[in-house]
Amino acid sequence: MKSISIDQKEILKHYKTIAVDTHKGIQGHVLIIGGSYGKIGAVCLSSKAALKAGCGLVTAFVPKCGYEIVQIAIPEVMVLTDVKKRCISNISFDLKPDAIGIGPGIGQDELTQKTFLKFLKTNKIPLVIDADALNILSKNKAWFLLLQPKTILTPHPKELERLIGEWNSEEEKFEKTISFSLQYNLIVVMKGAPTHIIDGESIYKNTSGNPALATAGSGDVLTGIITSLLAQSYEPIQAAILGVYLHGLTADIALPKMGFQSFIASDIIENLGEAFL
Ligand code: AMP
Ligand code: MG
Repeated sequence: MKSISIDQKEILKHYKTIAVDTHKGIQGHVLIIGGSYGKIGAVCLSSKAALKAGCGLVTAFVPKCGYEIVQIAIPEVMVLTDVKKRCISNISFDLKPDAIGIGPGIGQDELTQKTFLKFLKTNKIPLVIDADALNILSKNKAWFLLLQPKTILTPHPKELERLIGEWNSEEEKFEKTISFSLQYNLIVVMKGAPTHIIDGESIYKNTSGNPALATAGSGDVLTGIITSLLAQSYEPIQAAILGVYLHGLTADIALPKMGFQSFIASDIIENLGEAFL
């Protein structure tokens, strides 16, 4: 089993500078699908983080109640709406994003579950799955077979438990996650302190970040960052490694400027620029 530390040396092996002659049309188009009544903020955080992580365009697909919220919160983001007001019920869009992030704030309405599974059956676009989309997926192991190779899953510990079942020790948690990753050919970002990324038999251990990240919306921001990197033609494992490291680094950069207590998910986005530098 290969174990690799995600530090600055490792990051510089993957990081690509941006071409001087690039333009927004080739810099990657991200689609974030999520939100439900009262949880549109999760999509705002993911979408803004995706833009701040370097992609050229972001479209958010939200229930109708999210239209004005996203447009006003982030003028740079384009918005498509579902036919339903309060939840995602029919995922259909007429654009060709380079990567899709699905799950932030999406909830588990019956209609949302049905349309998510239908979407998985036909989707061929590189995908990051997070939050309640993971919880829906966890309900039936047969659905794991719908996922394209190297789909990125970003579970926190509870979401991971729903995916792979309970564990009795750290060792067993890793064994189960590795066999899950191998069996379905997926990348699992095991969020925690620290975060580990499992890609088949390789384990990557993140070295950036601190407890300031234990705050509402932190994971939604991570989904946006990783999806953005995926849209910028990073390989899925590179997008996961770079995304997790940058996300953690923002909290390390911010810490001397504010206490753990005052750091919120928007501060991750605020400090992304410095993290890239
Ligand atoms: P979520 O629970 O989906 O909002 O995700 C939380 C994010 O914050 C994940 O990326 C975690 O790895 C990170 N995080 C939470 N608590 C800590 C901690 N104590 N130290 C470092 N990272 C943390
Ligand atoms: Mg989360």
